[in-house]
Amino acid sequence: MTVLEEVLSANGAYADTFGAKSELALPPARGFAILTCMDARLDPAKYAGLSEGDAHVIRNAGGRASDDAIRSLVISYKLLGTKEWFVIHHTNCGMEFFTDEVIRGLLANSLETAALGEDGFYEVGSGPGSAEAKNIAWLTIADQALSVLEDVERIKAHPLVPAGIPVYGFIYDVATGRLVEVPAATAAGAVR
Ligand SMILES: [Zn+2]
Repeated sequence: MTVLEEVLSANGAYADTFGAKSELALPPARGFAILTCMDARLDPAKYAGLSEGDAHVIRNAGGRASDDAIRSLVISYKLLGTKEWFVIHHTNCGMEFFTDEVIRGLLANSLETAALGEDGFYEVGSGPGSAEAKNIAWLTIADQALSVLEDVERIKAHPLVPAGIPVYGFIYDVATGRLVEVPAATAAGAVR
């Protein structure tokens, strides 16, 4: 089966037993949101115990507090009533293995998939590339705990985020499945 066929087959089985999920309300029943990385090893529904309808999960590369992530969080609170937010980055994140300069150089050479070696990503594809990558802030990560702290601070300082929302900072360990708190981040995200 192709990936497309596999996905449609799995969806058919899911829909066949959909049951009472058709009755779920639009606002998240448990009133919280998680901002986390798109990494395929992370399944927020499993690591945080979510069922359909429970919580908002906002994902991007790194789980970073980008303008678009903040857009989603503001909607999550303002229109859909979440009251607590989590920022969850993780160990062994791909965003640690390059810088803006590196990805801009790679994309300037070729749009094809690069390879990851001991010294980071390197080019194996052919051109043409594009200089457009210089217009994107890639939000790479040099230090996991610091990136969580920075993102919690950015969210808390945002003029569209009300002071009453606590924001918790964590790092998910891909070796154990455990959430490890970043105390400085949770402190920065506390309601004062
Ligand atoms: Zn990641």
